[in-house]
Amino acid sequence: MREIILVKYGEMALKGANRSTFEDVLLRNIRFRLKRLGSFSYAKAQSTIYIVPEAESDDACAALVGAAMPRLKKIFGIAALARARACEKDFSDIAAQAVPYLHDALTAAKTFKVEAKRADKAFPMKSPQICAELGGVLLKAYPHLRVNVTEPDVTVTVEIRDRNAYIHAAREKGAGGLPVGTAGNALLLLSGGIDSPVAAYMMAKRGLRITACHFASPPYTSERARLKVEQLCEKLTPWCGSIAFYCVPFTEIQEELERSCPEEYFTILMRRLMMEIAQEIAKREDCGAVVTGESLGQVASQTLQAIACTDAVSKMPVLRPLIGMDKVEIIDISRRIDTYETSIQPYEDCCTVFTPRHPKLRPVLSEVEEVQAAVDFAPMVARAVAETEKKVFALHIAEEQGSVTL
Ligand code: ATP
Ligand code: MG
Repeated sequence: MREIILVKYGEMALKGANRSTFEDVLLRNIRFRLKRLGSFSYAKAQSTIYIVPEAESDDACAALVGAAMPRLKKIFGIAALARARACEKDFSDIAAQAVPYLHDALTAAKTFKVEAKRADKAFPMKSPQICAELGGVLLKAYPHLRVNVTEPDVTVTVEIRDRNAYIHAAREKGAGGLPVGTAGNALLLLSGGIDSPVAAYMMAKRGLRITACHFASPPYTSERARLKVEQLCEKLTPWCGSIAFYCVPFTEIQEELERSCPEEYFTILMRRLMMEIAQEIAKREDCGAVVTGESLGQVASQTLQAIACTDAVSKMPVLRPLIGMDKVEIIDISRRIDTYETSIQPYEDCCTVFTPRHPKLRPVLSEVEEVQAAVDFAPMVARAVAETEKKVFALHIAEEQGSVTL
């Protein structure tokens, strides 16, 4: 019989009445992710999704399963997954299939144990008996093995389910979290740096669908800088799914700030104006929150007082998943999600183009508002919003072009 994939959902299983919506979204995300690989059929039962490759030969099925695994590991909502062999619900078939199927895992191991999960209570053998008898069969076939029930090198699992029995030996960890789309939409402020792509990953993990918004100030910022940010969007697609990307022309506002505002207020006013524009784009995209890559105290604009002055502009929650993290921790994640190498390419960001020598570290909201009110930014904000360009980064295109590693 063929090899299949068992997908276990974690936290989602706890969601009570919402559970079937969560399952449906997860299943939709999985289907979307695998549809270009080949044909699969899907079934769900008992907190498990069964992904069954539809191909002529067992080898072709195994190849589909092999290609699906790394993709599935990047889908939020999956707690664990395992390649498994489907067998008849008959002990002699289970034993006959287990010996060759587990060859690689058991040859590499010194110790093992067998666990049985008997969801189908009509199966004639009870779990301890399945474990004992299959353990005996495997010991005979692989005489170098010893049983160790507390710390085995390999745990062989036999699951007796509705339609079939399944054998597997290596349960792998999934990406965890909640399926993208189950928590609503959020607008990410995406710079070209290390932090904001990590923030996107973290909030997608909590089920948010991410739309990205980038502020560019040509000619002070180059086309290369913009392309770098677009590349970051592509790199995020395996985790976030397809991403709508908005690029906002920010030059006029930055030049006006430089011309008319006291230098020490430049950064905080710039951030408030970014937030104002973000509100408009968020409304268009039906986003219920803004996400940034800020981390407390990292730079002048990330003190409590500066954050308060920025938040005062926002009519929706501003989520800062990195707020309590060190740079080292953030870098670790960015390497793991494969955005780091892109983020460290040395192109300028609009934030770094006009950096004041002494930015206000503890800005006071009333003073900031007063300084801002001296210039009528409203028409400039409206123009920036109107001239914003939208582009969609589709996961399957990023995949076809080889822009993302799987
Ligand atoms: P990052 O590594 O994400 O660039 P940073 O440590 O450089 O962050 P800042 O430049 O102060 O910090 O930016 C803080 C946050 O503001 C970023 O994480 C991002 O969410 C947002 N941001 C900064 N610059 C831009 C930009 N040009 N376009 C969109 N968002 C931006
Ligand atoms: Mg930055």
